Amino acid sequence: VAFALLVLACLPVAPADGRVQRPGVSASPIASGPQAVRDRAPTFADGVAALVRAGYPQSVVEHLTSLGDAANGFRLAGGRADLAQSAFIAGEMRDAGLQNVRLEPVAVDVWDVRGAEVVAGDERFTASQWGGVPGTPAHGITAPLVYVRGGLAADYAAAGDVSGCIVLVDFLPSAYWVGIIGMEAKAQGAAGMILTSTRRDTALFSDPASLASSSATYSTADAAPFVYVRRRDGDRLKRLLAAGPITATMRSDVAVTAIADGGVAYNVVGELPGSAGAEDLLVVGAHQDAFFEGAVDDASGVAGLLTMARAMRECGYRPERTIVFVSHTAEEFGLADSQYDWCVGSWRLLTEHADWPGRTAAELELDEIGFRRAPLWALNVPELGPWLRATARGRGARLWPQDWITAYSDQWAYSARGIPSAHFGNTTDRYDAATNHTDRDTAALLDYETLGEDIVAVHRVARGLARVSGRLLPLSPAARAHELAASVAARDLEHAGCDATVRRRYRRALADFVRAAEAYERRSAAIPAAHIERVNAGLLAVLRDLGPALTGLDWYDTVTYPHRSQLDDLLGLMSGVRRCRLHQRGAALEALAGVTHTATGRHFSPAVYGRFLDRCSPEYERLGWAAWGRLPLPLDVMPEYLLIESGRYRAALRGLVAKRRSARAELERRLAAMTPVLADAARRLDGLR
Ligand SMILES: [Zn+2]
Repeated sequence: VAFALLVLACLPVAPADGRVQRPGVSASPIASGPQAVRDRAPTFADGVAALVRAGYPQSVVEHLTSLGDAANGFRLAGGRADLAQSAFIAGEMRDAGLQNVRLEPVAVDVWDVRGAEVVAGDERFTASQWGGVPGTPAHGITAPLVYVRGGLAADYAAAGDVSGCIVLVDFLPSAYWVGIIGMEAKAQGAAGMILTSTRRDTALFSDPASLASSSATYSTADAAPFVYVRRRDGDRLKRLLAAGPITATMRSDVAVTAIADGGVAYNVVGELPGSAGAEDLLVVGAHQDAFFEGAVDDASGVAGLLTMARAMRECGYRPERTIVFVSHTAEEFGLADSQYDWCVGSWRLLTEHADWPGRTAAELELDEIGFRRAPLWALNVPELGPWLRATARGRGARLWPQDWITAYSDQWAYSARGIPSAHFGNTTDRYDAATNHTDRDTAALLDYETLGEDIVAVHRVARGLARVSGRLLPLSPAARAHELAASVAARDLEHAGCDATVRRRYRRALADFVRAAEAYERRSAAIPAAHIERVNAGLLAVLRDLGPALTGLDWYDTVTYPHRSQLDDLLGLMSGVRRCRLHQRGAALEALAGVTHTATGRHFSPAVYGRFLDRCSPEYERLGWAAWGRLPLPLDVMPEYLLIESGRYRAALRGLVAKRRSARAELERRLAAMTPVLADAARRLDGLR
């Protein structure tokens, strides 16, 4: 336990790129003993241990991973394998005694990938396909192969004319979205693209022997089709090219059923009825769709969810809230022609169940659990932080709450709609770098005792949240208020030149919210028992209204506040203006590189970057769930960037000053929109007593 507290005390904060930081430990701090006490009713933990001994979660993972589609074992949304697993999971839910089990349709672009290869001379290389990337004609694309290094505009300038060719690209997945790489290839006239990984990217797809896949944020009209080959095969192609010109054939067999043509998948939903009735909910989720076998990501979560449901029944657990188990589809991919093509199943679910926020205490997502003997972490909204820390204390604790959330998980949609969420997993940075979304993500990586311990820990969290009466929900509005207050310094808003009245009103509403949240928690112990049910409902209603108002996304998909993301872009722009005035070329360019996607844009053709930005605009028809995230106003400062590069500071300043005006106005609009929501939350929190 001391060890656990030591690690908890030095948890890192969310890094700018939104990737999970984990404590540097590789073993479970406390192994929970298998010896159950014999002379008492079986506990939840006993039930889980018995199911693990009987091989139940193992059989679920084995079955799901056996269903995969022909070529690489994918179970993408709406494909044959995914439809089969929806039916299987519904059957298991019924068998576990869940009620009202149903398949809820989700409109998706179905990407049925049936295999891909690259042929060069008499050598044949198996390739992988990505979600949303169009296939080739059946006979493939045959063309001269040209190596274009990173596939950036400068690389094409060095390579010469590539029109009609297949380009071989060293992909840096940590640095660029593959979507913009494909758009550049198409703009340069390439007929197709072969991607491979390199040693330069150590954070993703770093295993030289594995195939990789993901959603591609692809524009099916503006980007060249591509396939992905193992690094060692990419190296082989480069050696062949070094020996002389070669012609290659790339083949990718994809059958697409678009939403417009009836593409459909199913979220699977089942309920453990609560004693308080069907109105009050708690959601436990996982996702069933996968690239490759996806044993860890996320057959493990589905197995955990089904094991949890069974163990609850077997130990006679009766929650007050109705626990809704959701196996999401289309978490990995489900929407073509979109920069935000993942998390589609949960986005549609929350669109459909617009009445869940306000009566759902939380969503607990199981995604990538049971990984070897690694400790369990949680990505959670601040409201859940104190309760997660409280349940992590004491014997059997194995949980590391991190107080930030990710948009790369189904938890996003719940949080954005005002349902507090926590995503539980126990994979490591090394898994992310080498194994996630590759053909190495197999059942051999799972340890089922660990998986059992993981769901026992999540159950402990769920028990406190499944209350309606008797005790207050363990949700902390003060933790949210403090995080919000710390997210933007008052002097930054002043420095950004925001209107003084707008600032003063926002500051007053925020202070009021902080005060009311703290006062609520101070008096919470004294709230009379007869009021608790009403207070719990009132608290969830406050969080329901705060969630959408406080959810923003930045350009790197980091979940942040709407004013924070806009302020960051504005401050970068303002610094660019100052440096430009002083004719400080390097510093001005560096400042502007931090605005919108300029850091990416400067490496691509201006028209390609412009098209890329269109897809992030609030007006884009396929912005998808990102519309819930109030992206900052997209600022295309590439024209000014190029002017500064060529020393034309005066012309650059004219453009930058105009863009600064619109960015500042947008920030003021956001502050003005948040102000009444905070004031209202404060007023309603004051009424909870
Ligand atoms: Zn996942």
